[in-house]
Amino acid sequence: MEVHGSCHCGDITYQAEVDPQLVGVCNCTDCQMLTGSAFRVTVPAPSTQFQLLTGQPKTYIKTAESGAKRRHAFCPTCGTPVYASAATDAPPSFSLRVGCLKEKAQLPPQRQIWCRSALEWAKNIGELPGRERQ
Ligand SMILES: [Zn+2]
Ligand SMILES: [Zn+2]
Repeated sequence: MEVHGSCHCGDITYQAEVDPQLVGVCNCTDCQMLTGSAFRVTVPAPSTQFQLLTGQPKTYIKTAESGAKRRHAFCPTCGTPVYASAATDAPPSFSLRVGCLKEKAQLPPQRQIWCRSALEWAKNIGELPGRERQ
């Protein structure tokens, strides 16, 4: 599926080809911290299928508990996360942030990882009383 992404301020735009079957939720504590939220939703795009159209993301190299390094790209103006990749010159794929994709409604997660650190309260938010707007 072709997807179109952008950051909140609009400086960074990109397009990619992704497999909707690979959309996943990550409950790791790094994703909680880096998103400021309960979990992150991502979909990988092979680097050959990812095209940055406008803007230049700033990057931050994160070292995981395991020692693995990941390059996190974000907009230097608005801070929106754009992607993460291996911290190498030619990463094989980019992990796109589904919340930034125009097609996000058609990309429901198919699996979740790092359930050990999943927040209990985040598991059933569909049961919370809700309103259409704030
Ligand atoms: Zn921006
Ligand atoms: Zn994570």
